Amino acid sequence: MSRFWSPLVHQLTPYVPGEQPALRDLVKLNTNENPYGPSPRALAAIVEAADDSLRLYPDPTALRLRSAIATTFGLTPELIFVGNGSDEVLAHTFAALLKHDAPLLFPDVTYSFYPTYCGLFHVAFRQIPLDPAMQVGVADYRQPCGAIILANPNAPTGIALPLNDIERLLADHPDQVVVIDEAYVDFGAESAVPLVARYPNLLVIQTFSKSRSLAGLRVGFAIGQRPLIEALERIKDSFNSYPLGRLAIVGAVAAWEDQAWFDTNRNKVIATRKRLDAGLRGLDFSVLPSSANFVFARHASQAGADLAAELRKLGILVRHFPKARIQDYLRISVGTDAECDRLISALRELV
Ligand code: PMP
Repeated sequence: MSRFWSPLVHQLTPYVPGEQPALRDLVKLNTNENPYGPSPRALAAIVEAADDSLRLYPDPTALRLRSAIATTFGLTPELIFVGNGSDEVLAHTFAALLKHDAPLLFPDVTYSFYPTYCGLFHVAFRQIPLDPAMQVGVADYRQPCGAIILANPNAPTGIALPLNDIERLLADHPDQVVVIDEAYVDFGAESAVPLVARYPNLLVIQTFSKSRSLAGLRVGFAIGQRPLIEALERIKDSFNSYPLGRLAIVGAVAAWEDQAWFDTNRNKVIATRKRLDAGLRGLDFSVLPSSANFVFARHASQAGADLAAELRKLGILVRHFPKARIQDYLRISVGTDAECDRLISALRELV
């Protein structure tokens, strides 16, 4: 606490990211990073761009990247907004589109950055409980509201919502923005991007951090009809005109275009997720059905906090959330087969 702070700073509840320890040789399954590296084409593009031209500002609109993304989806670049990680895209979205007199709705168990952004931007919100199976029930959202945001697949549950449920939500709320945060969509959920053309109230957000293995580069994007994208551009150009550096732009373009690398690694993660799921079940864990690059699992008798602490002593990091409904769960990122095997052997000793 400092007397120099603006009043707002005293009121914030900052998001706490999973730890990024300096120690090597840890099995790091706590922040949903991809266990495989980015496309070699992305690395080559970054090296090639690291030259004297770094004295120049980047293209403030990152048109090359927006065009590459747009082409894949059969859209035009005007419908794509890019930012410094999807967290920044989300932040601009909260400021630009989700702040109304009526509350923003999101699940009681979801990405914990959402309430943090509500605090930062003074967005009124209401949390809608997931059903007993930890699933989103779209009928529960049929109530007056200012806007809705859902992660699909949800985090940290990993459970995906079918596209027809999302379409139901969009049709139920024609006068409210519905944001679908698709950070993990490439690992097994249906993307809502094809609905953008028909629903002016839909904004879809994706990231290069997970399925493109580029969490360290910080690139995310949003897709929506022009009025929504224009709102994001107005906030961005009132905040930071150059959210993506030259290296991030060329690296992201090359990663985006390397479809073969993307498919290979995504399929490996999905295959390992099945092994991990089976291994955990064999040790008396119940595992929620995951469509993401992590699983959310609870042991029949052992407390989540204890298990996370014991694993940490063995050099294995997983994520634990000390929150009423989910305190006995562990969120375990899908690593390589070898990493997941090490986790399973460690758990076999502990449970
Ligand atoms: N949305 C969800 C649901 C997430 O879990 C994350 C990762 N913490 C993000 C968005 C943000 O990812 P990034 O800023 O790396 O794109």
